[in-house]
Amino acid sequence: MPDAPAAPAPDTAPEATTAVTPMMAQYLELKAQYPDALLFYRMGDFYEMFFDDARAAAAALDIALTKRGKHAGDDIPMCGVPVHAAEGYLLTLIRKGFRVAVCEQMEDPAEAKKRGSKSVVKRDVVRLVTPGTLTEDTLLDARRHNYLAAWAEIRGEGALAWLDISTGDFAATACPRTLLGPMLARLSPREVLAAQGAEASLRAMVEEGGGVLTELAGASFDSQSAEHRLKGLYGVSTLEAFGGFGRAEVAALGAVVDYVEVTQKGKLPMIRPPQHEEAGGTMQIDAATRRNLEITRSLSGGRDGALLQAVDRTVTGGGARLLEARLSSPSTDLSTIRARHDAVAALLEDSALASALRSRLRGVPDMERALTRLSLERGGPRDLAALRDGLAEGAEIAGLLAGDLPAELTEAAAALTGLEDISAPLDAALVAEPPLLARDGGFIAAGHHEELDDCRRLRDEGRAVIASMQAQYAAETGISSLKIKHNNVLGYFIETTATHAEKMRSAPLSETFIHRQTTANQVRFTTVELSGLETRILNAGGRALELERQLFEALAAGVRAGAARIAAAARALAEIDLAAAFAELADTEEWVRPLMQLGGAFRIEGGRHPVVEQALRRAGDKPFVANDVDLSLGQKPVWLVTGPNMAGKSTFLRQNALIALLAQAGAFVPARAAEIGVVTQLFSRVGAADDLARGRSTFMVEMVETAAILNQAGPGALVILDEIGRGTATWDGLSIAWATLEHLHDANRCRTLFATHYHELTTLSARLDGMMNATVAVREWEGDVIFLHEVRPGAADRSYGVQVARLAGLPAAVIERARHVLETLEEGDREGGGSRAATLIDDLPLFSARPPAPAPAPAKASAVEARLREVLPDGLSPRAALDLVYELRGMLDGEG
Ligand code: ATP
Repeated sequence: MPDAPAAPAPDTAPEATTAVTPMMAQYLELKAQYPDALLFYRMGDFYEMFFDDARAAAAALDIALTKRGKHAGDDIPMCGVPVHAAEGYLLTLIRKGFRVAVCEQMEDPAEAKKRGSKSVVKRDVVRLVTPGTLTEDTLLDARRHNYLAAWAEIRGEGALAWLDISTGDFAATACPRTLLGPMLARLSPREVLAAQGAEASLRAMVEEGGGVLTELAGASFDSQSAEHRLKGLYGVSTLEAFGGFGRAEVAALGAVVDYVEVTQKGKLPMIRPPQHEEAGGTMQIDAATRRNLEITRSLSGGRDGALLQAVDRTVTGGGARLLEARLSSPSTDLSTIRARHDAVAALLEDSALASALRSRLRGVPDMERALTRLSLERGGPRDLAALRDGLAEGAEIAGLLAGDLPAELTEAAAALTGLEDISAPLDAALVAEPPLLARDGGFIAAGHHEELDDCRRLRDEGRAVIASMQAQYAAETGISSLKIKHNNVLGYFIETTATHAEKMRSAPLSETFIHRQTTANQVRFTTVELSGLETRILNAGGRALELERQLFEALAAGVRAGAARIAAAARALAEIDLAAAFAELADTEEWVRPLMQLGGAFRIEGGRHPVVEQALRRAGDKPFVANDVDLSLGQKPVWLVTGPNMAGKSTFLRQNALIALLAQAGAFVPARAAEIGVVTQLFSRVGAADDLARGRSTFMVEMVETAAILNQAGPGALVILDEIGRGTATWDGLSIAWATLEHLHDANRCRTLFATHYHELTTLSARLDGMMNATVAVREWEGDVIFLHEVRPGAADRSYGVQVARLAGLPAAVIERARHVLETLEEGDREGGGSRAATLIDDLPLFSARPPAPAPAPAKASAVEARLREVLPDGLSPRAALDLVYELRGMLDGEG
């Protein structure tokens, strides 16, 4: 960021006295109202910061810290940023977690001067800029939502409300504390409001999702005043119409509205009626699962490599935001999911329609955000034009959707029709490509407003208008030598020679021409029209701007009145964009429509991992190997997957989770066929993931996350566990993995994929009927391992770790030594912990983790055993056998 130039002298600078200057008094008074924010104090073309604000901002923005005047005998630290570049600086500050109160001059400094040379320009804070309340395109990511959330708790009942102020999306749901983490992970709000005294755990949860926690006074969460506020906002007498909100939900919704009002200084943006999200309406996915599955961000934090980026074929900002929302909260409602699939199927079938829609959508501007800016009186002519163009394209798109199509598409088309009352005035008034700011004018089309046209003509062509008036008068009077001239004394006047003056001074011309002056040879006149024209020429420029401003206001008011319908149209366009994008994806990537049902089916034929598949293709590598899975409840819902490193276990596990997620987000899926019983909870864990940032040991993280699954997963869950138990010593790890697998099988009874290095676990399949062993096949060839990436029933025979290490380029000497150690150990194992292994292990303290096998108990010669050894079973009659049993039993009792 460039250094801000030094600020100019303020209108009334703090002076070098110990007394508080009037300006400093004003500053301090304003600052006292915003102790938690940096105060951007407007002085001419700069925003200035003083005292601690200046120190903090100078450091955060890397700009010069200077000083100006004294306060209480000390220098006042100061820094400033130019107004025209303020947005960039604001963005940096917001990203660094600051809040900024923007204080403007509320009057012309000339006005202040009139009150006396010492008087201070009136100033006030016009807006509090916080991470959750941004509206500027430059400060927002066009393809992502920017949520402001509020968490309320009333008598143990929790609720979360969230608003995207830039689009007006507003919703709330009941949210017990245990589900708050997953909800925050889903929405990743930039800012979360909570009542004062929030616990550290809440702050940690918010910060983990990349947001900031803003604490408000408890009164902001009062459910009664919240209800009152919401009723007022929507002009309704009861909130029932929006769905049955609980008290905590109402409190959370009210806190959001209150905060927006405070930060926007009373101007409310368009806020759609709140949606009530039923608990359980969307797939429960916690933060760890989102991270592991790399849904919207990859593990490294970027968009590259994340599912979202791999499947995004949308062509509008609204479509992209909807995609992100859908992937973040896949539906669990069967009819909703099917309706979405119907729309995708229709567009996949009619590819001509789909491509016509997409090419129209490409031209659609971001109406949601333009609308919000206009609602907040922060919009400009370009926002009006965005709505004009968006609505026009919308009408065309609705026309394309006139046929017999699924409900989702026809409903969207309906939302795009009948908006002419909003678009026509914009169409009629605006030029094709208006400027950004209303302030400079030039956005109202010629021919729209007569007076404006006149003003502009006068302003731009003053001389030409005079010339045409002169020609008109010459014709009317028949005096061809008549001239219109200008001097500083008379201004504009009409001049004729004395010869013609008489004619002008007698009726009927004398009614129009008013005598002004007679000189030696000339007579000068004026007309009402000419003097009016003169004033108008002088004022034309200013008047033109004023008229444009009025017209802008009228147009913006029209837009605000139609805000709800415009917002619905924008949402409809996003829906169409997303359906067409999913159809495009299905077409180009050969995805299929999943068969969605209630119940516990999960059968995938030829499933693929969408991100890995595309990466392999880009790298020109071997094609992705498709794999089947069947986790249907009632059959073998638990698969234990073994196989060497790098064989593709993790890929296989994740692809199945992603298939469920995509299906319920409304997309088709990367498979040859899929049958899925709606998944209500999705869990994914990877063993041994470090989380040093939160100061927890690797193993602790793993166990906390595993505990969450075992405690929560119900019959609708799909659980994916990758190498659980790896973060501790072998036997500990094996035992934990063992018990976890049993618990999932016996208690959670959910669809589960469990990948492990512990081959010992494969023996469990003999005892757990719902469990089956699967392995990722490899072939060994001349001592090397070849990965087939094929998942087959059965258990892996060995790990191939040494071969994989060789592929990874470990030095040959290390590989040789490892091979040797392995052979020795394996041989030792076969010989029951024989001496060679023991010797070797003595040499290699690293391997001493494995506890020695317990010494076999000394055989105790038993009379029963001795008697049994004498028996020849083939020679025993049934009767003799029964007698023998009595006899043995008698001996046992005797032994006891
Ligand atoms: P580790 O146990 O070391 O984590 P893994 O068995 O989990 O290994 P993955 O990470 O899933 O292995 O896969 C390793 C690599 O193999 C992937 O990066 C990918 O390039 C390739 N791969 C995995 N699955 C397939 C597949 N089905 N078809 C083609 N290539 C695949």
